[in-house]
Amino acid sequence: RLYNEVIELKGNIRVFCRCRPLNQNEIASGTASVIDFESPLCKDLQVICSDSSKKQFKFDHVFRPEDNQEAVFAQTKPIVTSVLDGYNVCIFAYGQTGTGKTFTMEGTPQQRGVNYRTLEELFRISEEKDGIIRYELFVSMLEVYTEKIRDLLADNSNQPTKKLEIKQAAEGTQEVPGLVEARVYNTNDVWELLRSGSRVRSVGSTSANELSSRSHCLLRVTVKGQNLINGQRTRSHLWLVDLAGSERVGRTEVEDRNSKLTHILQSSLGGDCKTLMFVQISPSAADLGETICSLNFASRVR
Ligand code: ADP
Ligand code: MG
Repeated sequence: RLYNEVIELKGNIRVFCRCRPLNQNEIASGTASVIDFESPLCKDLQVICSDSSKKQFKFDHVFRPEDNQEAVFAQTKPIVTSVLDGYNVCIFAYGQTGTGKTFTMEGTPQQRGVNYRTLEELFRISEEKDGIIRYELFVSMLEVYTEKIRDLLADNSNQPTKKLEIKQAAEGTQEVPGLVEARVYNTNDVWELLRSGSRVRSVGSTSANELSSRSHCLLRVTVKGQNLINGQRTRSHLWLVDLAGSERVGRTEVEDRNSKLTHILQSSLGGDCKTLMFVQISPSAADLGETICSLNFASRVR
């Protein structure tokens, strides 16, 4: 019962854990994995601590190093597509730098992540509903860094940070006036936008790692729906968020109710919104400390 109350209090939050594989360097140097996935259920894992004791963590789903992007999206799909039913949805990736947040959300051209697959699925369903519901999809992309917001799709986004503010809208939703909302008609449009946004984002940073370790990258999909049978209209937001490295911003920024990030996401973090957090972890013994911190944090969120 207590468990249910907590879920209710926190809104509809689910937590998926994803562990990346050991990388080439770690394998070459003989690094051991400290994560044990022996349980046949995909809902828990054990961390082997330095004194050989084991600490168990339970989540809504645990993805192992061998689980691919398709497997991750299969579990994510029902949540993201509920934006078409008028739900506000927020998906975010949390964890130490180098654990696969960007891999999960953006992915690579060969192994595309949740962002692209989501849009692809939204287009597929819109086509299926043709003649019954008319959907319009819009994409916005922004970066939050040291409490400043940068519009990654604006023409002048290469100039020193344009100051965007967050406004409290009537229905308790948060709006960012002036933020570009680009209408997208197909997955090619989406791919081009995501790429151009990423390029803009990387200008002025010395490395991808440095950049993503200190700033949050937010993709917002706005869905406008019109039911052609009863005339009912819906407008909802889906946020896809690649958070800054947890070792850099600490856990406080995510929990701090006054941060820009929290303000932006507020409408999505409470009420009848659906929230999914990916807690990303490394299997390496060298990252044990950060891994435990992230898992503890994620357990508390849930
Ligand atoms: P983060 O965004 O958390 O800093 P990245 O997404 O950049 O981490 O991942 C770090 C590296 O590990 C990248 O080279 C990425 O391609 C690789 N990687 C992460 N997760 C996986 C995975 N599940 N399978 C294969 N490679 C992965
Ligand atoms: Mg990253």
